[in-house]
Amino acid sequence: MTNAILLTAILAACAVLIWILWQQQEVQADKTKEQEDARIPPLLRGINFLLSDEPDRALKELVHVAKLQTETAEVYLALGDMFRNKGEFGRAVRIHQNLLARPDLPQHLHMQAQVALAVDFQAGGLLGRALQQYGRVLDLQPGHIHALESSLRIREQGREWELAEELLQRLDRVRGTTSNLHHAYLLTEMARQKLVRKDEDGALAMVQQAIEKAPACAAAHLLLAEIDLKRGDVDAAVNSMRQLHAAAPYYLPLLVPVLLAHPKAYDSHGQAFLAQCWKDKHDELLAIAWIRALHGARGIEAAQQLKQSIAFEPRTLSACLHMKALLGEEDSLTRASRQWQSAQKNYSCVECGAKFVDMRWQCPQCHEWGSMRPIKEKEIA
Ligand SMILES: [Zn+2]
Repeated sequence: MTNAILLTAILAACAVLIWILWQQQEVQADKTKEQEDARIPPLLRGINFLLSDEPDRALKELVHVAKLQTETAEVYLALGDMFRNKGEFGRAVRIHQNLLARPDLPQHLHMQAQVALAVDFQAGGLLGRALQQYGRVLDLQPGHIHALESSLRIREQGREWELAEELLQRLDRVRGTTSNLHHAYLLTEMARQKLVRKDEDGALAMVQQAIEKAPACAAAHLLLAEIDLKRGDVDAAVNSMRQLHAAAPYYLPLLVPVLLAHPKAYDSHGQAFLAQCWKDKHDELLAIAWIRALHGARGIEAAQQLKQSIAFEPRTLSACLHMKALLGEEDSLTRASRQWQSAQKNYSCVECGAKFVDMRWQCPQCHEWGSMRPIKEKEIA
């Protein structure tokens, strides 16, 4: 009996001991879990929200992480770039602004965040704010090439040519280069603006400066011819046209409407100049531009006469369609050819391959100047 009581007591003691140990383990596990909880979230929670496509809640958690831990700033910068690349500019801006608000942000990351914020604004189309932000970067680091290049691009987009020219000069100094052709195109655009404001003398001086910088600048030769024609100096205009022919003959089609805007000069000298150019190379694109411009200025009969007098026979499919659109009888094929003509891409960029309907002196895609060439098609066998 005594043994039975003793055994029961031992078993009871063991049960109590096991229960106490088990309780202690539970408490320990809870403590560990609590410690982990304090360390891992909100980063994990943020990532979880990201994975479950809840970017706003993710952002809230990650902002908290960035405030707590300095070493997460790089991750945070990458996250901002990711949002920008996805087209979520507002979120990218918030991330980079939050980073910049941190007083303990290391200097190199501070600069990266400043640049990233400027890129966010630029990618989101807030060009004024992007310029301000690039300005802050340049205050901190006056030779920052990316900030200078991006500011130059924005000024060019806004047609603020004087400011663009200043930025290009700064870039040249930093890079140790001389971008003469780029300068010449900017000067030509400045001259064009002066001409619009009826300042012919100012425009003439500026375009001459452009040609001095880069004799290969086709836009400058074309504008000089236009200024000469406006001033009634036909001999000088013919000289400018010859210069254009020598520098970039493929841009001659652009000269035709300029000439036809001055009928006297066209009749006295222009017509003969174009006829000579046509005779030299039989450039199909020149003939098409000439017939089209004459059709617009003097009607279909003048255009037909010109086609006959220069004995123009289309040798490519696109030339056939152009002629049909311009001179064809009113039928469904002529109407279809006109539709085709209005959407036809006539120029492509030699730098990036982008194709456009109209001529641009600066490629909208790669921002190179003077890189557009007329698209030539294969001749019909
Ligand atoms: Zn391009």
